[in-house]
Amino acid sequence: MGTTETQAPSANGAATDGIAVENPATGAVIAHVPDLGPGEVRALAERARAAQPAWAALGFDGRAQVMLRTRKWLMDNAERVIETIVSETGKSWEDAQSAELVYGASALSFWAKHAERYLADERVRSSSLFVKGKKLKLRYEPLGLVGVIGPWNYPLTNSFGDCLPALMAGNAVILKPSEVTPLTSMLLAEGMRAAGLPEDVLAIATGRGQTGSAVVDAVDMVMFTGSTRTGKLVMRQAAETLTPVSLELGGKDPMIVLADADLERAASSAVWSAFMNGGQTCISTERVYVEAPVYDAFVAKVVAKTRALRQGVPSDFGAVDVGAITFPPQAEIIERHVQDAIGKGAKAVVGGHRGAGPGRFFEPTVLVDVDHTMEAMTEETFGPTMPIMRVADAEEAIRLANDSPYGLGGSVFTKDVGRGEAVARRMQAGAVNVNDTMINFAALELPMGGWKASGLGSRHGAGGIRKYCKQQAILVSRLHPKRDVHHFPYKAKTSRRLLRGFRLLWGRGGRD
Ligand code: NDP
Repeated sequence: MGTTETQAPSANGAATDGIAVENPATGAVIAHVPDLGPGEVRALAERARAAQPAWAALGFDGRAQVMLRTRKWLMDNAERVIETIVSETGKSWEDAQSAELVYGASALSFWAKHAERYLADERVRSSSLFVKGKKLKLRYEPLGLVGVIGPWNYPLTNSFGDCLPALMAGNAVILKPSEVTPLTSMLLAEGMRAAGLPEDVLAIATGRGQTGSAVVDAVDMVMFTGSTRTGKLVMRQAAETLTPVSLELGGKDPMIVLADADLERAASSAVWSAFMNGGQTCISTERVYVEAPVYDAFVAKVVAKTRALRQGVPSDFGAVDVGAITFPPQAEIIERHVQDAIGKGAKAVVGGHRGAGPGRFFEPTVLVDVDHTMEAMTEETFGPTMPIMRVADAEEAIRLANDSPYGLGGSVFTKDVGRGEAVARRMQAGAVNVNDTMINFAALELPMGGWKASGLGSRHGAGGIRKYCKQQAILVSRLHPKRDVHHFPYKAKTSRRLLRGFRLLWGRGGRD
């Protein structure tokens, strides 16, 4: 396994200085990690490429055993993993457990079990006359070296989690975690090593943006999760080498509450999906549209539930509901969106301010009297805010929900599930939940990916592992005539006869 040991300043592309990792809930510096330069990333890539063929040769069973032993390691070390995640993100212990530890365990199980089926050779049938009697096959082969570049909000789920299908497909992986949250990736790499992952198959390249950029240059495919802005940079750079990319980007997920909704469930779901992980979830509820007849009742329920939330330093299970703001500039963005909304006529009925103390907090905030002139309704806030807008009817709600450059997720609440599904089908988003929020992410069988500016490609499901492979079509001619009808020399008589045959076959206007 690749390591990120000490680095020395150097003129030939090596690292310059280390990176301090901070606990956002306390403000304390808890570790330093190396800031790898391009030369060091290239060296990791070379070693990973050398290790990859033996890893691929191990086969699905051998690789699955490593995954399952990693799962055991994860459970044996659950508290240590949770503490590490909490220490560098400032999230609550429950958020670290339910949305990271549990995701990790289920992803290890899922890919160990399903990778072989998703990547098995497929027999293909064709209606082409030219290939009658021939054997057609589609097969998958690992790309070689995959680069996974991850964000700071889910250091296990959205960094390490995306390495698992790439590894199960038989690739080596370089993981570049966010500079803000590198410790979880380093710990999980240690776990995989303890579980028997061969040396150098998974390398952790700690560093900043330039380290990520070096990873893009060094690999055969990039799985990127992060902001739309950086995603575009990654795609532009990857175009130079025609390196394929899969991009999981930002979101501004809408929730629609129809007049016949179960308001208690809708309000509980809204509060959870807007404020869990401090609102720092790509698929968190970022704006809510409520039909006029139930608007006041819905807001009253949301306000009561939000007031009851406990925020502070996450010290153990049950200590707090909402943790800290992980990334320093994010607190400014949240404050700017809230101030912009208030300046344009919105009201913060709960919260609205940064928290006090050496740690970085922003109060869970409910905004009303909002509209689409406000940044809080149109730009990704990525913090604990819930702007709620009154709408005349479902048509207006759908129109406003779709009035966004993003299209990651969304939700609709109604007791009429048929109508809920009809509304969901009209929402421009990669995933829509009816009477639920965000939980589609737990179904690893279901693809998860964004429309519009929210991404390209998807994770999970068959496509979530096939994207880490080259596909190869194989055609085998079992019969060996000396000459086929399409071979040289071309003869007018044969060609005219063929044309008569084609007319008989395709000359009708209707279905075959
Ligand atoms: P960023 O885009 O800022 O960073 C993502 C990663 O890219 C980090 O590791 C970063 O390194 C690295 N990076 C920065 N510059 C470059 C570059 N030029 N080339 C290659 N890599 C680079 O995103 P955030 O970390 O701020 O994450 C938050 C964003 O992620 C939100 O928009 C959120 O919606 C999105 N997200 C999307 C998800 C999805 O599934 N669609 C899931 C989770 C989050 P460094 O941190 O060291 O600068």
